[in-house]
Amino acid sequence: MAGKPNTRRIKIGLAGNPNSGKTTIFNELTGAHQKVGNWPGVTVEVKQGISHHKGYEFEITDLPGTYSLSTQSKEERIARDFVLDHRPDVIIQVVEGPNLERNLYLTTQLIELEVPIVIALNMYDEVRAKKIKLRLKKLSELLNIPIVPTIGRRGKGMRRLLNAVLEVTKDGDQWSRPVRISYGHEVEDHIAELEESISLAGDLKKKYPIRWLSLGLIEGDEYVASRVHNATALHDGLFVQALDIRKHLAELFKTDPEDYITDRRYGFISGALKESMKVPESRGSSLTEKIDDILTNRILGLPILFFLMWLLFQATFGLGQYPMAWIEAGVEFLGDAASTWLPAGAARDLIVNGIIGGVGSVMVFLPNILILFLGISLLEDTGYMARAAFVTDRVMHALGLHGKSFIPLIMGFGCSVPAVMATRMLESKRDRILTMLIVPLMSCSARLPIYILFAGTFFPEQAGNVIFGIYIFGILMALIVGRLLSSTLFKGDYSPFVMELPSYRLPTLKSILIHMWFRAQMYLRKMGGVILVGSIILWFLGAYPKLDEKPEDLSEIENRVQNEYRLGMRQAQTAEDLNIITREYDLRMQQLERQTNARELEQTFIGRLGKVLAPVVQPLGFDWKMGVALLSGFVAKEVVVSSMGVLYAVEAEEEALLQNALKKSGVTPLIALGFMVFSLLYTPCIASMTAICKESGSYRWMLLSIFYQTGLAWIVTFVIYQGGRLLGVG
Ligand code: GDP
Ligand code: MG
Repeated sequence: MAGKPNTRRIKIGLAGNPNSGKTTIFNELTGAHQKVGNWPGVTVEVKQGISHHKGYEFEITDLPGTYSLSTQSKEERIARDFVLDHRPDVIIQVVEGPNLERNLYLTTQLIELEVPIVIALNMYDEVRAKKIKLRLKKLSELLNIPIVPTIGRRGKGMRRLLNAVLEVTKDGDQWSRPVRISYGHEVEDHIAELEESISLAGDLKKKYPIRWLSLGLIEGDEYVASRVHNATALHDGLFVQALDIRKHLAELFKTDPEDYITDRRYGFISGALKESMKVPESRGSSLTEKIDDILTNRILGLPILFFLMWLLFQATFGLGQYPMAWIEAGVEFLGDAASTWLPAGAARDLIVNGIIGGVGSVMVFLPNILILFLGISLLEDTGYMARAAFVTDRVMHALGLHGKSFIPLIMGFGCSVPAVMATRMLESKRDRILTMLIVPLMSCSARLPIYILFAGTFFPEQAGNVIFGIYIFGILMALIVGRLLSSTLFKGDYSPFVMELPSYRLPTLKSILIHMWFRAQMYLRKMGGVILVGSIILWFLGAYPKLDEKPEDLSEIENRVQNEYRLGMRQAQTAEDLNIITREYDLRMQQLERQTNARELEQTFIGRLGKVLAPVVQPLGFDWKMGVALLSGFVAKEVVVSSMGVLYAVEAEEEALLQNALKKSGVTPLIALGFMVFSLLYTPCIASMTAICKESGSYRWMLLSIFYQTGLAWIVTFVIYQGGRLLGVG
């Protein structure tokens, strides 16, 4: 019955290996359209949605992808926390049908958490295409878990999946008897021994599955240990006992107990599959293997990668130009409309110059960013990103980095914030922090307006090449700094490289668009937040305190110009004369206004700040206005150009004027080059700093990145400027 009032709520967690199709199924079930990443580890944001079926309400959580539940990675911690603390009614484990053996490893661990499970045997289309014979009923019996074949990307099997969920939540039915994986009598004896001790240790056994606790202690699982530690004061005795058991087992099996236990789990799986699955003898190689032969080829791999990257940037900058012009026109229209309709005064000034001017100058770059993100999503969703990491691994190793670091670095071209977040895919903390520290050296899209302005003005013939050169320079610096950090601060502790290479898949348009939109949202939020606030603050600092009255000398000039104009009008003979006089007058008045603005600016907070800053940036060839503009870039790099517009007392939209103003103020090509390099290297913006702080878990890494980058920027620019002058270039 529709709208039955006695709706019951069922809490579901979606677990599974990365790329098994969790998010696809999540979107099918809930209609919620979010997605973060598509390689191991990036879907760390836990998303929730609601689904209705048969009068029940299903509250579904998309958990991060994990291969197991035994390491200390964030993903695995989140998945385990969810089961233990949020107490879902059911876990739906999404398994990759063609890869059953590996996927079922996670199942064995979920079973031990004693949570009701339903298996969604996803990618059933590929199971069929590969002619894999599955006796699902048999397998389901062996595991004592309902198994529902699904085809996530076509929305097949969703209703049956929810029916199965209802089945396992029913009391006293066949599914409530948990299957038990046997670890052989030696281990089992010790499990029993520990279970006994645990039942004596306060209410520990009421909080957690007792067998899971015992196994975890035997495995030496830190996560389990910390749970035990926090739950009972009697933990010391348990730890000592577990340590003895571990020693005993290690001697007995000549291997770590955890390895032994892992082997037993795989043994359980292969046993179950032997009875229920038949894989056809592989004839020749699969399509994925054939594609991989080319894309991950030792010789061709890197050139192909660079070609694809080059294509991506061409598209980003080329295609983006058209919508950019439309948005520009829109922003201009809005600004004009606001200046026409609002009464003159501080409020209008704030809206037109502060908000529309500031945010508008950044909004213009939205199309470029969308295209860049579209490309990155496409590379991810097809499975190519994983190959890129694989291909670059050797090069990256030589530099003390990790192949997987390549992906966050590429994303850094878009925006450092998601790139810093993408470092989560790296297993070791060392690699994560090291990568995080160099990501901001990859030139993010926010810096592009600076290059376009300066390269366009001072290297009009070579603008494209100069900008490309700056990007390459950023990459080189990232590699050098990476090398330096990995041989000093981050010595040793290198984690071996295991890259999962998922099968190639043609992504659906929907999934790509959702993916891209998710990234764009982050950017939009940044505009609405940091950039809006930054623009307003900057506007205020640049508008106050005001001059009490017009400077006397300027008023005098103004009077003279007006008198001359009146005189000229009276003496004019022809219409032609009148035109010339009027034009002349307009020009001089504009000039005067600019001079007045400049005077006012010197008076304001920003002007005073600039005076303080001047000696610091002077050795780099920058004047105080450039210094202030760079300082404003702390807020967001986009703000640098918009503040230059304000500072040089010209309309930022009328780029030609700002260009002239820059030329007139004595900026040479050498200084322009220095300015671009400085903008590339110096401090990450507030949003990136926050991301680094949050992801590294310490503000110290954030401080390090601010100081080392700003120092590096200063030194490199100093060398460029002073070196250039010595060589007589400037
Ligand atoms: P997650 O990272 O585990 O959440 O996986 P996703 O939901 O992002 O899916 C990974 C890829 O598998 C995407 O490209 C999906 O379009 C694709 N996919 C999902 N379900 C199916 C399916 O049933 N069959 C096939 N062939 N592909 C699927
Ligand atoms: Mg996902």
